[in-house]
Amino acid sequence: MPKEDYRRLQEIAQRLRNSEPPFFRGNHIGSIQAFVRDAGKCQYCSRYLYESYAVLGDSDTDHILPRSKYELFKHEARNLVACCIECNKIKGDWDPATEAMGQRSLEIRTLSDLETQRDELIKRTREHIQRTPGKWQALFEKARQNFEDAVAEYHRAAPEAKSA
Ligand SMILES: [Zn+2]
Repeated sequence: MPKEDYRRLQEIAQRLRNSEPPFFRGNHIGSIQAFVRDAGKCQYCSRYLYESYAVLGDSDTDHILPRSKYELFKHEARNLVACCIECNKIKGDWDPATEAMGQRSLEIRTLSDLETQRDELIKRTREHIQRTPGKWQALFEKARQNFEDAVAEYHRAAPEAKSA
């Protein structure tokens, strides 16, 4: 994406952040830019994040190159993508430049390296997330079972409290 487009994107994001209702006010400008550029869709699973307040509330932007390793790109909109909570949890701190299975490492040191390899990095991450066998899904199923057991136990044990 050319520099000029990023300047325009920044202006639009700035305006959105100042708009009413003050829904976007607490967000980092880089995140708002990423959301606008990505049309509000998770760049890994294509889910539309403005589907409901609940979905959006949990969603975030993902650092394509993890901020723990790439200090330089921490607030860089080009290193951010709109991302749903599930994809974000699966990806964590995974680094598409060096950890992609069976693919050569990419050396990304400058913004220009990032620009050149950006599509490739997103593609690698998407594949990684699709490959990762429903780890979070399985944990969630277990947590849901524990919750439902607790609800059942409570409502079985205290029928008079329930009707009071
Ligand atoms: Zn997603």
